[in-house]
Amino acid sequence: MNKIRQLWRNIDFFSLRLRLTIGIAVVSALGNGSIAIWMSWKMQQILIDSHKNYVEQIAARLPRDVKLYSEMIPLETGLQKAIDNLTNTNTFLWVKNSNHKITAQSTNWHSLSDSTVAELMSTSEMPIKPEVYKVEQRYFVLCGSSLQVQGKVLGKLLIVQDITREQTMFLAMVQTLWIASILIIIVITVAIAYYVRRSLHPLRQLNQMTEVISAKDLAQAQLHIEHAPSEVKELAQTFNMLLSRLSQFWEQERQFVSNVSHELRTPLTIVHGYLQSVLRRQNNLTETQREALETAASEAEHTIRLLENLLDLARADSGYLHFHIEYCVLNDLVVEVVGMAKKYSERTIQIEDKIDFVEAKVDYDRLKQVLLNLIDNAIKYSEPDAPIILKLNQQENQAIIQVCDKGYGIPLQQQSRIFERFYRVDEARNHATGGSGLGLSIVKTLVEGMGGSVTVRSKLGEGSVFTVTLPI
Ligand code: ADP
Repeated sequence: MNKIRQLWRNIDFFSLRLRLTIGIAVVSALGNGSIAIWMSWKMQQILIDSHKNYVEQIAARLPRDVKLYSEMIPLETGLQKAIDNLTNTNTFLWVKNSNHKITAQSTNWHSLSDSTVAELMSTSEMPIKPEVYKVEQRYFVLCGSSLQVQGKVLGKLLIVQDITREQTMFLAMVQTLWIASILIIIVITVAIAYYVRRSLHPLRQLNQMTEVISAKDLAQAQLHIEHAPSEVKELAQTFNMLLSRLSQFWEQERQFVSNVSHELRTPLTIVHGYLQSVLRRQNNLTETQREALETAASEAEHTIRLLENLLDLARADSGYLHFHIEYCVLNDLVVEVVGMAKKYSERTIQIEDKIDFVEAKVDYDRLKQVLLNLIDNAIKYSEPDAPIILKLNQQENQAIIQVCDKGYGIPLQQQSRIFERFYRVDEARNHATGGSGLGLSIVKTLVEGMGGSVTVRSKLGEGSVFTVTLPI
């Protein structure tokens, strides 16, 4: 039951596949149904309606025959003779007078059982037009009319024809016809579902190919499907043109960001240098002047860092970010990073007591940049008295460095997005921290560039753990 419910939930009612299958199946069912109805009607005409016509003919002929005989012999004898002439194995005639007494009848009526005859006689509404009746598992065409000869009413004429064989045959054929039609519809529907699935396969392939194209592969991405219908090939061609336009646009944008960052970084670095030297050398500055210069220096530093991040990302995007991978003792690196971080922050930054000795193939400076970024975030997004802990472990052939804080934490639904460029969780709160939303995307780019990965585990109000995993 659960499986059926699951299957039902998985059906996409708006899919082209389902719509085409249902559409074609309905049309074929209608076509098949119409043929089956037409054939049933034709069989009824051939097997049953001919008997109804025959009964009608007898009803029309009997008065004429009786009239002819009555010119030669007495009326009653003529009537019986006419009935005898029209009677055959399956046809029975009765004439009843106004007192419901039988005045003439076919001599073969004994071939019917008494109960059948009694039931036929008792039929209250005799149809003027012949109709099929079922009496005791047998089928009869029945017709009743008033018998008038030369203006004289002789009674009520009842004509019965036994069509049990034909009717049974007709019903059996109709049943077989409908069963065959339903089976054909089922087979056609299954065949159509398979055919539609196969026909839409190239579209699904195209979808899968497009899904995996990332911004980085835009230039190389080419969609090509073997043995696809012309329409799908055209679509793939259009996609390819779109991809190449996107790639050009992406390249221009990257170039622009890189150029702007480069052009701005140099003068800003000079400005920052001058500000620092003025702050250091001039002792006669007023408090307000010193504050203004310090703010300007800090903003310049922040902007230089942003520009450097942008340059790094632009380089990574165009494949120009090079790594000097060599064997390094990560314990030394962690100690150095903590020392550096302590210089610009008074925060308690600890290295976990029990750490493994880990040596890995990494770019020493880039990994330092990664850890400084993570520690910087841990400081920014936690209260001033909350400690920050660094852990270093080795698991199989992986080095694992963790930066843990007991800060504000990150909501679960945003944890997967914080590594995106310019993504910041809480813009209002983050404003005060002065970030740009690029730090973690740089971290991710650098770690992945060294063949590793970075993940986050965080709980709101309890803190976050950033884990960097690197191959040894
Ligand atoms: P930013 O320059 O804003 O710090 P990042 O890319 O470094 O940019 O971080 C993206 C966002 O992720 C931040 O704006 C912050 O909301 C969230 N974040 C990063 N590190 C932490 C952390 N240790 N604790 C809580 N939130 C964090």
